[in-house]
Amino acid sequence: MRQGATEAEIRGAIAAIETRGFKAHPIPGAQRTAIGITGNKGAFDAPVFEGLPGVLEVIPVTHAYKLVSREVKPESTIVDIGGVKVGGDTLVIAAGPCAVESLEQTLTVARAVRRAGAHLLRGGAFKPRTSPYAFQGLGEEGLKILAAAREETGLPVVTEAVDLEGVDLIERYADAIQIGARNMQNFSLLRRAGKARMPVVLKRGMSATLEEFLMSAEYLLSEGNYQVILCERGVRTFSDFSRNTLDLAVVPAVKALSHLPILVDPSHGTGRRDKVAPLSRAAAAVGADGLLIEVHHDPDRALSDGPQSITPAMFEALVKDLGQIAPVLGRRL
Ligand code: PEP
Ligand code: MN
Repeated sequence: MRQGATEAEIRGAIAAIETRGFKAHPIPGAQRTAIGITGNKGAFDAPVFEGLPGVLEVIPVTHAYKLVSREVKPESTIVDIGGVKVGGDTLVIAAGPCAVESLEQTLTVARAVRRAGAHLLRGGAFKPRTSPYAFQGLGEEGLKILAAAREETGLPVVTEAVDLEGVDLIERYADAIQIGARNMQNFSLLRRAGKARMPVVLKRGMSATLEEFLMSAEYLLSEGNYQVILCERGVRTFSDFSRNTLDLAVVPAVKALSHLPILVDPSHGTGRRDKVAPLSRAAAAVGADGLLIEVHHDPDRALSDGPQSITPAMFEALVKDLGQIAPVLGRRL
């Protein structure tokens, strides 16, 4: 739609789309609203829509993914997580423990990352663990702890859902739903999160191509949730010096193809505490919209992902470095 198109003009375009049996997806932006059209089989009559009041242009989308593509919405999307804007001028830092272990542990880490300058609190109440014998998370109790940490620190909470019931609970307690790497192609979970009226952080599957990653995001948008943030967290390769290979080249690739913001998770991306800061700096330099970082005050005793968790002191030093890098890229912390 044109910049300044009225509500009535937007409604009129939606009605014209729907009367032809297609689905309309109005995606609001800071400058103008884009309306994605799905459900058409093959080409349709673009001039019919071009003639409608308020319509600027009709663009056929060439990619398999539609609503996430920049063709549909050239303007970058800014996602609001509890007042924190992801995808704008601020390089957003989400930090916290891999898993919520106790109230004391979560508050200790949350206070430390808040003091150092984090914008969001991350922490898992439901943990997707490789071993069924490993710590699985505190469940709803963990969500209550995260809510208490938000209450004290003011940091909005991002936390992972591993199943449909988890999404229901997270909607009650948190500010954004994380879909983990192992669930990137759990299509029923994606559809459910797509119906949530809460932002979703979608992590890249450990063997997912860029197209598969964007198609999974498309599931979320196709259900009406346009508040989606992508997250690169490393993929499996033959490289044997890190847990995963952090694919930083995917950041500019995503930026070219999609309007969605993208975070980088150097913790899972490397699996090694000493590599988190250098790869965080690189992620900022390559144009990521933010970082997702695991921090623990006693990482060697962490119940999950200790080897890749950095200490509050390391986190503080990293945030200082990022504060120097961000302005070079026209961003701030
Ligand atoms: C996590 O963020 O703790 C997590 C389990 O991440 P991933 O899904 O990327 O492995
Ligand atoms: Mn983890």
